[in-house]
Amino acid sequence: MRYLILSDIHANWEALEAVLSAAAGDYDHIVNCGDLAGYGPDPNGVIEWCQETNAIIVRGNHDKACARLENLEWFNPVARASARWTFQTLTPENRQFLIDLPKGPALFDDFQVFHGAPQDEDEYVVSEAEASEAAEYLDSQISFFGHTHLQGSFAVHRNGVRRTPGDGFEIEESMKYLVNPGSVGQPRDGDPRAGYAIYDREARTVDCRRVAYDQATTYKKIVTSGLPEMLGRRLFVGL
Ligand code: ZN
Repeated sequence: MRYLILSDIHANWEALEAVLSAAAGDYDHIVNCGDLAGYGPDPNGVIEWCQETNAIIVRGNHDKACARLENLEWFNPVARASARWTFQTLTPENRQFLIDLPKGPALFDDFQVFHGAPQDEDEYVVSEAEASEAAEYLDSQISFFGHTHLQGSFAVHRNGVRRTPGDGFEIEESMKYLVNPGSVGQPRDGDPRAGYAIYDREARTVDCRRVAYDQATTYKKIVTSGLPEMLGRRLFVGL
């Protein structure tokens, strides 16, 4: 069984389409670590696609904010404006779909899925120290998460936590793994290409990948829809 791992699509249809055509034929099921909506111009289309095709989805902080307009005081002014825009743009059905999304961690097949950290869905796992704290709460050998928009994986050994080098790795029996596939729709690691990962359960491998997409189209949609212009501009630099 092979899984396409997605996170932080953020209503970016062009990035999602590019990932799906690049990954075509390489997976059996789709796993979604949250933040379907917020920032991007196509929340309804993205949510409906996720609803129809994803095997498992956990909610992200933007999904909560866009569906309920709650906790916006934690958001910067641009994120707040995009949450309000998304709330108004969502159909009632899609707003309800976001409200009903489960909170992570969710156990699926032989792995766990959460948005931020296993102990707190809104927590960021960026450093090895944060990964080490999260590792105490893992219930499976491999876990997938997002929220930071930074692609990368951590290997957890009883002697400590380290980043896995390169774009992929082979799963070793003595290790646990925390895998962030990166953001599909708004990468922030300096690489503007859409991020995703493929987990092959039988081959015991995880492969983190990037694919270029047409940011100019997304940019135009952002500007014409009345979303803050910088949300389009940042897509070209991946920050
Ligand atoms: Zn996000």
